[in-house]
Amino acid sequence: KSGFISIIGRPNVGKSTFLNYVIGQKIAIMSDKPQTTRNKIQGVLTRDDAQFVFIDTPGIHKPKHRLGDFMVKIAVDTLNEVDLVLFMINAEEGYGKGDQYIMDLLQSVNKPVFLIINKVDLIKQEDVLPLIELYKEKYHFKEIVPISAGEGHNVPQLLDLIANEL
Ligand code: GDP
Ligand code: MG
Repeated sequence: KSGFISIIGRPNVGKSTFLNYVIGQKIAIMSDKPQTTRNKIQGVLTRDDAQFVFIDTPGIHKPKHRLGDFMVKIAVDTLNEVDLVLFMINAEEGYGKGDQYIMDLLQSVNKPVFLIINKVDLIKQEDVLPLIELYKEKYHFKEIVPISAGEGHNVPQLLDLIANEL
């Protein structure tokens, strides 16, 4: 099994942190400064049963200037090139216009999309389920997986779900 997996989401949700965690190396710059990731960064993870090519992308936001426009295009273009899309959100942030913008983009994607609720280490456990329920109503996510990319919580389980999908 092998496949290309795009990691998309608003700036700062933890996309690069996730890539670095699964690859086990700091290949993508992580920062609390938005727009640190300015291009596509690929990381390959090889297991006995599967090979994953993860593609970290610039955060998707409504572009306000030319560079932003270019970066968003990079992220959106990957959607058509991959086998699976990981749409990552920050568990701490509420559902906002930025998420709606990405959800609208996802409507035209005919690939399986997993919702990854990241940074669950920052919220109370009982607050995870309502988030899952909220997002379930908005899109037919193939899987909804709460993780902490920072701590690696639930990441092995996510990798197994991805392998099943490829
Ligand atoms: P990106 O813009 O989506 O690539 O986000 P980054 O990976 O650069 O991370 C943005 C910030 O969130 C950094 O300060 C990270 O250390 C932090 N971060 C990422 N994942 C987690 C997590 O699971 N838990 C916590 N507490 N912080 C995280
Ligand atoms: Mg990044």
